[in-house]
Amino acid sequence: SIDINTNLTDIDFINSVIPIRKEEFNKGNCGKVLIVTGSLGMAGSGCIAAKASLRTGTGLVYIAAPSSLLNIYQSVVPEAVAIGLKDSNGIMEEEAVDVILDMLKKCNATAIGPGISTHKSIYNIVRSIAENAKIPLVLDADALNVIAEDTSIFNKFQKDVVITPHPGEMSRLTGLEIKYIQENRIEVAKKYAGLWGVTVVLKGARTIIADKNEEVFINPTGNSGMATAGSGDALSGIIASLIGQGVSPFEAAIAGTYIHGLAGDIGAQQKGLYGLNALDIVENIPYAIINVT
Ligand code: AMP
Ligand code: MG
Repeated sequence: SIDINTNLTDIDFINSVIPIRKEEFNKGNCGKVLIVTGSLGMAGSGCIAAKASLRTGTGLVYIAAPSSLLNIYQSVVPEAVAIGLKDSNGIMEEEAVDVILDMLKKCNATAIGPGISTHKSIYNIVRSIAENAKIPLVLDADALNVIAEDTSIFNKFQKDVVITPHPGEMSRLTGLEIKYIQENRIEVAKKYAGLWGVTVVLKGARTIIADKNEEVFINPTGNSGMATAGSGDALSGIIASLIGQGVSPFEAAIAGTYIHGLAGDIGAQQKGLYGLNALDIVENIPYAIINVT
């Protein structure tokens, strides 16, 4: 059921969206991206998102994560600046939101949610970010799982929001069964993009990107080797990077999804569908970008 407002993403469009890297640029011109992430046992997801953001060209990546986990981020992603947030037992405390809101003022894009947990404090942090953040937000993973408890949070956002649910997260957000979502991917993405006033990136084979005005793109890149833990964390880092570099959130979602899938396709040529891991996707982002520019 492909209607006339549905587009298959093509490479010329992607090329037109990737920001020009001017000769005189310094890192201040290439985006400041904040990744809000992490809980005990889930530090890897933020590392993957941060690395993906750096590989997409972000000038400066900040990682805001529970203080007790800070050494992990510093040693795994030396290029990023890590900011420790007050935590207990590896879960961010609610007061951490003040530091996050301060950081958001210094940044021009943010990805929130990978590995952050669904503790009550996280619900309150996400809510407060919604009410106060003045920059576009990419919401993924546990940020979506806490919003699923009260989707009226979507009415509170000040700026453009991109959400990147996999079908399970979309099921929690909408109350619809996964089977129904998968059988009606375009319609579901479109409907909720309009309803919530966000860009919906409904992940999975042939990712659907729908905007709040209900324009829809179908992504042609990617493969089943990308059905592997951490794969989606890379996507949120890529999209936030493009927004930070000045791309509109909807176009960043379309182009980011294309680049993510292409990086996975290049990775699968080397590692095959079985051996492809999330960091293989990340390491191939540069070659995907070379391919489309
Ligand atoms: P997540 O479940 O959050 O780790 O996200 C998984 C990522 O891998 C998403 O970007 C999906 O679109 C992608 N992915 C998973 N399975 C497939 C598949 N069979 N074909 C293409 N892309 C996939
Ligand atoms: Mg995920």
